[in-house]
Amino acid sequence: MTATLIRGGWVLTSAPEGSATPAVIENGAVLVDGERIVAVGGFAELSAAHPDAAVLGTAFDIVTPGFVNTHGHFSEGLITGIAEGYTLWEWIWELINPVAGHFSPAMAYSGTMLAGMQMLRSGITLANDMFCTDPGTDAPLTPEVVRALDDLNLRGIVSFGAGDVGSDRGIQAEFDEHEALREAAAASRLSTFRVGIGAVGGQSDAMFARSIEYATGGDHGVHIHLQEIREEVTATMQRTGRTAIAHSAHEGLFAAPTLAAHCVWVDRHDRAILAEHRVGVAHNPVSNMILASGAAPVWEMRELGIDVGIGVDGPASNDSQDMLQAIKSAAMLARVTHQQATAMSAREAFEMATIGGARALRAEETVGSLEPGKAADIVVFDGDSPALANVHDPFQAVVWVAGPSEVRDVWVAGRRSVIDGRIATVDVADEVARARPLARELVTRAGLGHLSVLARGQ
Ligand SMILES: [Zn+2]
Repeated sequence: MTATLIRGGWVLTSAPEGSATPAVIENGAVLVDGERIVAVGGFAELSAAHPDAAVLGTAFDIVTPGFVNTHGHFSEGLITGIAEGYTLWEWIWELINPVAGHFSPAMAYSGTMLAGMQMLRSGITLANDMFCTDPGTDAPLTPEVVRALDDLNLRGIVSFGAGDVGSDRGIQAEFDEHEALREAAAASRLSTFRVGIGAVGGQSDAMFARSIEYATGGDHGVHIHLQEIREEVTATMQRTGRTAIAHSAHEGLFAAPTLAAHCVWVDRHDRAILAEHRVGVAHNPVSNMILASGAAPVWEMRELGIDVGIGVDGPASNDSQDMLQAIKSAAMLARVTHQQATAMSAREAFEMATIGGARALRAEETVGSLEPGKAADIVVFDGDSPALANVHDPFQAVVWVAGPSEVRDVWVAGRRSVIDGRIATVDVADEVARARPLARELVTRAGLGHLSVLARGQ
């Protein structure tokens, strides 16, 4: 295979301090061979040293690492733009619980496709997912997530958000789903498995203990929601005498590498626990604002050295899957919260969305920055687009100015999933057409006529 030299007026590598690779390279390039990055440096030097390499990109483009989406739910891909005006628990009660049990494997595949295509178009190359719906049949659902991600050429860290509280499925069925997903990920080119725990309050004590044992015994990471809303903190406090974070630490959960989504309602004791156990945090500014959950103390968590990444969250609670909107929102929410324009710079938000997210998922050895030896997960922003015609500061250009329409090419594992702004791996029109009857069937079977015109046969 011929090596490819991806050039840009700016290469923003997100390489950490101390790396041999600079964080910002003007007139730079990234040399890709197979699935990996083999060199990063000045375009002139690299093109002279590798005259046979195919050259892509222009002297005006901006080249960045692929974005790491630290939290989402492919299970919501067919129910977007529905059920607004609720806070989290009412939203779960009104929308998420009714669709549970009506899902087919085809719906799981199709929802992943729709959300995944939007993610790729906004520069996401790794999605940390938690599938949060039980199957309506005996067949497991979550292997379909892995199949869709492989078809899209989108990297995944996949989990099933298990829980037995309020469910009559039984604990064993939940662990069977974990196992089916684990096996699918093991056979996949791009996905790896984590143990999903919907929330501390969603599992009985017996199931929570078994989940911890399954994660630590199997050497698996964990993906969990922690302290998204105030009511979760008080309910867990009433039941266990501790916050969900303190309870998780007490029960031994954090012996497994853990990614905690949200951490909005965390006091200084909770934050100290997160820092002590190196729990990674997914900050989801858009869904936190839509559901009126609050503003996570990102500044305070980062001050303690906690790895905080950015997530788009699910297609039913964001509802868009646009990472660039989430990155911009993270910086804006920090500024509004602190009423301080310096609360988060464009560069800080960019680094949270790349190497910060990779660290939160303990995947920084392979992704999150453009450095030799890492996976060739790369985004090229179109320097010839009107929005990026004049780049005064490349970080501000990406974070404040760019949207999916400026994302020209997206590489995952050395292969382009987006070429010239179009999804290159699957037929978009076919996937959209296939999704329509499935979404209608889902909301109709779930009895959501009061929320969706599709469920009213219109
Ligand atoms: Zn979530």
